[in-house]
Amino acid sequence: QAKAKATNTFEVFALEMRTRALQRLTLESELRQALERDELLVYYQPIVEMESDRLIGLEALVRWQHPLRGFISPGEFVPIAEETGLVVPLDRWVLRQACQQLAIWRAQYAAFASVRVSVNLSAQDLRSTRLLSDIDTILRDTKLAGSCLTLEITESMLVEDIEPTLVLLAELHDRNIRVSIDDFGTGYSSLNYLHQLHVDYLKIDRSFVNQLSPNHPNYQVVNTIIALSQQLGLMTIAEGIEMAEQKYWLGQLGCTLGQGYFFAKPLSSGEIERQFCP
Ligand code: C2E
Ligand code: MG
Ligand code: MG
Ligand code: MG
Repeated sequence: QAKAKATNTFEVFALEMRTRALQRLTLESELRQALERDELLVYYQPIVEMESDRLIGLEALVRWQHPLRGFISPGEFVPIAEETGLVVPLDRWVLRQACQQLAIWRAQYAAFASVRVSVNLSAQDLRSTRLLSDIDTILRDTKLAGSCLTLEITESMLVEDIEPTLVLLAELHDRNIRVSIDDFGTGYSSLNYLHQLHVDYLKIDRSFVNQLSPNHPNYQVVNTIIALSQQLGLMTIAEGIEMAEQKYWLGQLGCTLGQGYFFAKPLSSGEIERQFCP
């Protein structure tokens, strides 16, 4: 009986593994098609200057509206795209889409004159030799200046093989393209070479902004990140601000830029126009 049960458990496990592998495979080929068939969408989440509530940037966040499965979040399909290499064409698509959209908004609305767009990159993008030439092509096609664009990379992407990244960051800097270190504080610390990197913003990870009050340990962590970025001459953006109280404490700590549901959720381009274009 015990043996039968064990076999059974194993079979269930094996079946589950197989189902998951199949789902992955299906998702991968469907994602490939989605990219070709334009089933992906870009949403835009406002980044604001907290003191004035002024819109200073929009983070482009990819969305997948699957015809049968409905909405699939990037948390689910970006990792699959990363495993399969599909993330490179995916991110190029998002970059082009976001630049085209910003160019249209800039031409139509005075309120967008100093708004930039932020695009997320994956580790594979940094390793792709065509990244810079693709960026140049997209900026040329959309007639946007490099200063309109911010690229978001994470701390952990800086750890492996730093030399080529230093070169890339310098090239981006030459084009006035800004760089953010996303989810700062959650990856391996790159503190020893942070001062050598041409980056512009540290984005304080949502997990630290969550539960932020002077008697919570997060308060000191955020304080330290802000002090560090000031020392390095960088700007700080707090992510995941959901409540007025978090905004208040961030202001007390000297954080000037913020992003989160408190200000706005990621919105479709239509919603952005309705809310931000008078
Ligand atoms: P991220 O770059 O750190 O983006 C911020 C995430 O936090 C977004 O999730 C956003 O919707 C969410 N968020 C913003 N404000 C709040 C808030 O107040 N509360 C809460 N609970 N969440 C908030 P999303 O859009 O699901 O994206 C998840 C991650 O997927 C992103 O994290 C990014 O790492 C990745 N991602 C999204 N779009 C792309 C893309 O085009 N390319 C690549 N490579 N990765 C992407
Ligand atoms: Mg990001
Ligand atoms: Mg982030
Ligand atoms: Mg985050």
